[in-house]
Amino acid sequence: MANLLKGKDLADKIKNNLIDEISKFKTKPKLAAVEIGENQASEVYIINQKKQADLLGIAYELIKLDGAISEKEAENNILKLNKDDSVTAIIIQLPVPKQINAKILVGMIDPSKDAESMHPSNLGKILLGDYKIGPCTAMGVMELLESTGVKLYGKEAVCVGHSEIVGKPLSLMLLSKFATTCVCHIATGERGALPGHVKNAEILIVAVGKAGLIKGEWIKEGAIVIDVGINKVGDKIVGDVEFEEAEKRASYITPVPGGVGPLTTTILMRNVVELHKASNVVA
Ligand code: NAP
Repeated sequence: MANLLKGKDLADKIKNNLIDEISKFKTKPKLAAVEIGENQASEVYIINQKKQADLLGIAYELIKLDGAISEKEAENNILKLNKDDSVTAIIIQLPVPKQINAKILVGMIDPSKDAESMHPSNLGKILLGDYKIGPCTAMGVMELLESTGVKLYGKEAVCVGHSEIVGKPLSLMLLSKFATTCVCHIATGERGALPGHVKNAEILIVAVGKAGLIKGEWIKEGAIVIDVGINKVGDKIVGDVEFEEAEKRASYITPVPGGVGPLTTTILMRNVVELHKASNVVA
């Protein structure tokens, strides 16, 4: 039976280190969160972010912009925050209203204030293997893998899903650890090639958002399985992997919920601290 990889335990450890580090800073880091219009999912994230920031000693300012704001006005707000020396880091709560191009807006954030590390310049640093901050979920997955103590060097790693926030940055992070990395996506599934790749995976990371996509019987004996997926089935939250069968074969597996999820906001806060340390402000 697999060991359970619970994100909360790891998140608590990271939080304790951050509390210690922040308590020694001369100035307090500040995260500015920009919300455009109102969105139920964003509200939950915002409450969570504020709670963690308060706990750690990071100032948190929520900037609420009207949902009917023009793209230009939204961009001007980001430019203003870029220039504000009291702001360490900026996060734009997604999704944004239709009239605004989220990618362009995120690209307006000064890369040195990019809390989610989604600016092309910060994503580029991951390609170069030179990064201290990174997209929160992908970084969380790497933390979970590291916590197992299993060396990634030369291992067969398979990422299912190639989104910009999870699969793509993660595949580069795995490569930088010399894992032999394969990335599967919709075309892999359509060609019927997904089971073959998954069966080969010593390290399997799934970030798709389809309950039961990965059959338990596909899991290689002793594999490490990280299930990023979040799906509502009836009144239950489940991942993308058939947990019960997978648990019998894997050496480590993340539960859903309680696996990757609890790490995401903590990594966001760690990014803020890293940006603070790298800024001109005396940390
Ligand atoms: P996304 O942007 O929708 O990406 C999903 C990916 O899965 C895409 O690359 C898609 O490929 C691929 N895909 C779709 N159907 C497939 C199939 N049949 N076989 C193989 N690949 C397939 O989603 P995301 O933002 O990365 O999120 C993925 C899941 O993780 C969601 O359930 C989300 O809720 C969850 N999530 C959890 C956390 C957390 O903190 N726990 C954070 C972020 C996301 P194409 O693009 O080619 O269609």
